[in-house]
Amino acid sequence: MNFKGKVAVITGAAAGIGRATAILFAEHGAAVGLIDRDASGVEETAALVGRSGGQAIAVRADVGIEGEVIAAFQQVVSSQKKVNVLINNAGVELYKDFLQYESAEWHRLLNVNLNSVYYCSKQAIPFMIQSGEGSIVNLSSVQALATTGQVSPYAAAKGGILSLTRDMAREFGKHKIRVNSICPGCIHTPMMDRTLATMADADAVVRRMAQAIPLQRLGKAEDIAKVALFLSSPYADYISGTSLVVDGGLLSKLPLPEYW
Ligand code: NAD
Repeated sequence: MNFKGKVAVITGAAAGIGRATAILFAEHGAAVGLIDRDASGVEETAALVGRSGGQAIAVRADVGIEGEVIAAFQQVVSSQKKVNVLINNAGVELYKDFLQYESAEWHRLLNVNLNSVYYCSKQAIPFMIQSGEGSIVNLSSVQALATTGQVSPYAAAKGGILSLTRDMAREFGKHKIRVNSICPGCIHTPMMDRTLATMADADAVVRRMAQAIPLQRLGKAEDIAKVALFLSSPYADYISGTSLVVDGGLLSKLPLPEYW
């Protein structure tokens, strides 16, 4: 797990899974390029990396807008001129009934959660081809495989990521570029906190969620960061075109009554 001399670009690096992933890659020797629409948050992640001796560059950009992604990559690669790893992590969710989504909301969710994978990969892949190998990890979700409801554009985008992962793995395998996805379950990050903040009995909800998970706890951002690191490491050098469910066993449960 030695990433010395490698550059890892991580989107959505100002918080949650992205921040944990940035810190973990830096701890393992990578120089990290951090992209987020939250300027102060992404600077803070870069400072955390710097304080523990790592090398980071922070760039503010909205990954749902292709022009901003192009400009961000120009900044990220300006000193190192390479990208060895890309973690397409930035994502947003919005809970609504299908008929309640405004068309603009639908397109925005698809842009940030799915089209961003295309925008960022398009910038990173030429550098990977140049260096003769690379790893792309896309953050999908268990919502791509089963649904809580009220997430139709998010679920569509996360499902799209799984198909796109397969297609990219097939096309770029000849350049030794591996492309994989992670499907996280219930991970306790600011994203989940925002949803919990809308609930009157958030503590009870967290307790019930934990009880519903075979491993009896919510996931931590680091649980996903470790898998992103593994998938990008030589230990995963024959893994491509697939997805790893990281959910504490949540999806292994059939929704049968408790007495079963
Ligand atoms: P989070 O909201 O805690 O952090 C997401 C980060 O992405 C934030 O820093 C935010 O500013 C950034 N971001 C959002 N939209 C952006 C945009 N348009 N451009 C640039 N940056 C943007 O979320 P998280 O829980 O860390 O989730 C990370 C990824 O994991 C997302 O793709 C999410 O869909 C996926 N995921 C999370 C969970 C979970 O339970 N937390 C479960 C399944 C999948």
